[in-house]
Amino acid sequence: MQCPRLKTLLRDWYQQVRSFTLSPIKMMELVDRHIKQCSICKEDPDLNLELDQLREIIRVPHTILPKEEKVTEEPVYVYEEEAEEPEEEL
Ligand SMILES: [Zn+2]
Repeated sequence: MQCPRLKTLLRDWYQQVRSFTLSPIKMMELVDRHIKQCSICKEDPDLNLELDQLREIIRVPHTILPKEEKVTEEPVYVYEEEAEEPEEEL
């Protein structure tokens, strides 16, 4: 990676992906957008390979769907059952 701007951006975006404020797909879109308008990135021969690695990295935690919160539909009734058992007076 030769572009210092992209390095900074990637670090930034990666942080956001890790804190779930940016989706990995969106991140790659932003990367693509940068590359298209950046002369350094366009000339960088290793960039594609590095982006492939990046995709691998950022995809990993997101292939797992976020756990849905378990909604307990069953209401918990608390019966205060009166003790029917006769008390044995002994
Ligand atoms: Zn660039």
